[in-house]
Amino acid sequence: MLQHPDATLYEGKAKILFSTSDPKILVQEFKDDLTAFNAQKKGSFFGKGAINCQISSIIFQHLANLGVPVHYRSLDSPRRMVIDRLDMVPIEVVVRNRVAGSLTRRLGIPEGESLPFPVIEWYYKRDDLGDPMVNRDHIRILKLASDAVLDEIRILGLRVNEILLQYFRERSISLVDIKLEFGWNSSGFLVLGDEVDGDTSRLWDLETGEKLDKDRFRMDLGSVKEGYEKIYERVAGHAIES
Ligand code: 5GP
Repeated sequence: MLQHPDATLYEGKAKILFSTSDPKILVQEFKDDLTAFNAQKKGSFFGKGAINCQISSIIFQHLANLGVPVHYRSLDSPRRMVIDRLDMVPIEVVVRNRVAGSLTRRLGIPEGESLPFPVIEWYYKRDDLGDPMVNRDHIRILKLASDAVLDEIRILGLRVNEILLQYFRERSISLVDIKLEFGWNSSGFLVLGDEVDGDTSRLWDLETGEKLDKDRFRMDLGSVKEGYEKIYERVAGHAIES
């Protein structure tokens, strides 16, 4: 067991990071809490952390198998994964395949419309500012990342999106959009971090359009747990053990 007791490095809205006896390795614990609209809306359900941790674990392994650098190392328990410590780039990268959420509101395009190409947006990771959308000039003046690093993130983000579009399509799910975060590992390589699940992406049933992700919570659609369980079932190939 790598984890030191009481060695909490950081506690966020949905996850806790623990240090371990190896400074290059952390443990990421997924909480049962759900938040939306910059934590103005709060909820939780028992088992949510374990479901998301296991979904993320399977997806990270799939990406790694296809050559994408990921921070994931192994599953430590149903709700904890062992990860490489990353120095995070303070940018959230959103890749969109169909119109939903803030894009619907910002551009007035109806929800669900397919985009002619994956649309990339950058957001400045700053809770106190509500994670504002930024452009490349903003990123330059804030010195969040160099142009070369942004180009690298863009290429990696598009690659992850392309892999996951197919992965989910094969499981009868439409990947509407996804939020990704990247960081530097101890060897100086850019690596995909954070999580990849129904908290950080929009996943709709391919046939019916049913929303399976966190929008059930955001939009008060009900049966949030059932939505996450459906994502798990399609990703894992079997129902979650309760
Ligand atoms: P939108 O900008 O439409 O609200 O979100 C676009 C995508 O990024 C959605 O899949 C959404 O779940 C994800 N996303 C954007 N910002 C955040 C965030 O701060 N936290 C989480 N969990 N997901 C986010």
